[in-house]
Amino acid sequence: MSRRSRGSNTWEVRASTLARNTHNLIRDIVENLQVEPNPEKQLIALSVGDPTTFGNLNPPEQVLQAVRESNEWLSSRSYGPAKGHIEARVAVAQYSAHQGDISPEDVVLCSGCSHAIELAITVIADSGQNVLVPRPGFMIYKTVAEGLGINIKHYNLLPDQQWKIDLEDLENQIDDDTAAIVVINPSNPCGSVYDKGHLYEILDIASRNHVPIIADEIYEHFVFSNNEFTALSALSVDVPILTCGGLTKRFLVPGWRMGWVIIHDRHNIFGKEVRQGLSNLASRILGPNTLIQRALPAILTCTPQSFFDEVVLFIENQAKLAFDELRCAPGLRPIMPQGAMYMMIEIKLSLFPNFKNELQFVERLVAEQSVFCLPGQCFAYPNFMRIVLTVPEAILREACKRMIIFCKDHIVSRETIKEIESDIVTVPSDNEVICDNDTAHVA
Ligand SMILES: *Cc1c(COP(=O)(O)O)cnc(C)c1O
Repeated sequence: MSRRSRGSNTWEVRASTLARNTHNLIRDIVENLQVEPNPEKQLIALSVGDPTTFGNLNPPEQVLQAVRESNEWLSSRSYGPAKGHIEARVAVAQYSAHQGDISPEDVVLCSGCSHAIELAITVIADSGQNVLVPRPGFMIYKTVAEGLGINIKHYNLLPDQQWKIDLEDLENQIDDDTAAIVVINPSNPCGSVYDKGHLYEILDIASRNHVPIIADEIYEHFVFSNNEFTALSALSVDVPILTCGGLTKRFLVPGWRMGWVIIHDRHNIFGKEVRQGLSNLASRILGPNTLIQRALPAILTCTPQSFFDEVVLFIENQAKLAFDELRCAPGLRPIMPQGAMYMMIEIKLSLFPNFKNELQFVERLVAEQSVFCLPGQCFAYPNFMRIVLTVPEAILREACKRMIIFCKDHIVSRETIKEIESDIVTVPSDNEVICDNDTAHVA
């Protein structure tokens, strides 16, 4: 049905339904926050999930050199095939061998991992269908799906079990219209890393219900000591999986926009149609950045393991620092991550009568202490906030110090705590520690 009649004598130009129904939840929430920092204190943004923000984390020289060399090639300036140059796809297939047997034909290069996610969702879900995503979870799924009429349904993660999936809830969410289950491992925003046993449990549910999986593994290998990363596809016997990855986080180059989808489909369940569909969708942007494609083989093979190890060790130490500091902040409960680059912190709002919700808490934290954390609502998870761990150590230390002062300034009085102590017994005790501050016993 046309919206306007031919020869209409007035201008009637409206944004499309897709444009109007596409939202970036984080932006929407952050733009509505009252975030005027305290002019007396330098702003510390622990909100931005970009490891390059502070300039303390940089890619290794080999990676920068690979792009310098790529710049000299004519073919780095030309269009490539929509799925990407074959040399680049061969390199990604080899680099991703831990995910299972991969041929270059299984690899589609994308403009960043978010584009990979868009292709993965749009190639298997139609308007009216739904995709299951974790809560709390990264919100790009909602941004990509909802404008197209694809519904997002949440399944819960369990904060007291290191954010494992509530399997019963996951299975209950599956219905006749479920096109895919999204699994983010390691997780943004939780920093959880799933062991093989848990991954098998997830695969079992997908297998029994015949639902494909979209595995967001942009944080692959990003795990702290005593944790192991296993690709979901490496364990799958029958469940077809689209794995989304890329350079962004591991190589510290979000602006380079290089990601990929890898098709894992041992039993040919996706068939030709889904493969062809991915190629079709890839052609919508005529393929990703060829300057980086040309450099990919060198980037993926010449980066020394020591680079990866150092970055992960740095983040692990930051996680320990923030955890040790903040578990002594009255009214906060940090949850120690096992990987990725974030930490979730519960705000015990019953102990902060000045704040109705975590939005008000983070707003006042900016206004008084100039520390900005992302409110849990950005991940569909109120009563929590997320901090990034990639900031320089001294800055993270200062931020924690200010957060502790803020909590002490706003926590209910000791008398009130005694009155409500009976309620607090329900708080899980796994993080309880002896801290040298007055109200630590309630933290
Ligand atoms: C950062 C991130 C992405 C997007 O990565 P880009 O390559 O920048 O598009 C996707 N998924 C998760 C879980 C992320 O944290």
